[in-house]
Amino acid sequence: MRLITLNLLMCNSVECSGRNQPLFLNPGEITQGTTQFNHNLAVRMLGKLDWPSFTNNALSLGHELPDAITEADHQNQELMQRIFDIMFNIEIQAGTLLCQNCNRDYPIEKGIPNMLPRDQ
Ligand SMILES: [Zn+2]
Repeated sequence: MRLITLNLLMCNSVECSGRNQPLFLNPGEITQGTTQFNHNLAVRMLGKLDWPSFTNNALSLGHELPDAITEADHQNQELMQRIFDIMFNIEIQAGTLLCQNCNRDYPIEKGIPNMLPRDQ
């Protein structure tokens, strides 16, 4: 899975249902993707991201990003390329996703997060 996918996932526990709890990545095996840089796509995805949780998870992968992105930053090719690579070219093959609200963790195996609830 990619970091960009993580933004669409939320905790499925009964305790957290209906609340949009961001999940935090504890990465295991990582592989490198080869998606070609696409500036417009990077800018479009930026508008959909929860930036604080994205930067937090990027940091867990060893990539430090600014606290905020401005319109002017969209023209910064070097920064946008770096963000794009973090979004699309880091493939998380194994690890866990942790809900910081209920402490439920979800395993990632063979690149796929297992989001099935265990309390039902
Ligand atoms: Zn939760």
